[in-house]
Amino acid sequence: MEYKYNGIILGKRNLGETDRMYVIYTREAGKIWAAGKGTRKPAAKLAGSLESLTESEIFISKNRGRGNITGAIAVDTFPFLKSKISFLESAFGAIGILEKLITDQEKDERIYALLKGYLAAMNKAAEEEGEDKKDILTAGLIFKLLDFSGYRTSFEACVKCRNKILSGRNYFSARLGGAVCPECFSGLGETRVSDGCVKMIRIILANKIESLGKLKVPPADIKNAQIVISEQVKWITG
Ligand SMILES: [Zn+2]
Repeated sequence: MEYKYNGIILGKRNLGETDRMYVIYTREAGKIWAAGKGTRKPAAKLAGSLESLTESEIFISKNRGRGNITGAIAVDTFPFLKSKISFLESAFGAIGILEKLITDQEKDERIYALLKGYLAAMNKAAEEEGEDKKDILTAGLIFKLLDFSGYRTSFEACVKCRNKILSGRNYFSARLGGAVCPECFSGLGETRVSDGCVKMIRIILANKIESLGKLKVPPADIKNAQIVISEQVKWITG
């Protein structure tokens, strides 16, 4: 049987002398693995449409177990994103987190749309030389992924007393998955979060990824959000 998928190539591993194994996030079936026969040969026709961070229509023949890719047509190659090392590093870092958070064969069209929107926004930012945008977009992708995977972080109300988080000395607890107000601060595994960081995360969670490219955030607040992300991901994935 041959199946057609809309997929975003997340990565690839070498398989034997001439083949590759691809990990693909598909609209139809979530994260899947499929082999590309002969894709390591220099003249391989399929290889271009199966580059990492490319959206393609992918044809896969399946009998038992993992399938074999029989054809691929690139839909969007995001060329500006791929031409900038700093953007590629951010995107691959985010994909690494996605691979840890998302289990195989779990379909979620929101995640497909999110990934596609993220790559398109990153491509646009790379074209416009928007170095500062890439960190906001990448943080946006991770906070939304956490949300879609059932780990929505709470920055509206204190995770301990449920009172509204006001501006001032607030903290973040990865164990409780959100902001801690000054009255509830215990010092145990709680990191300071700036007002700008709280505001940025609230905006991220309330808006589509495509619109985050317009956001302006001071670098210190972006750094702060990156610390929140790294603590939260570490807590979830162990
Ligand atoms: Zn509290």
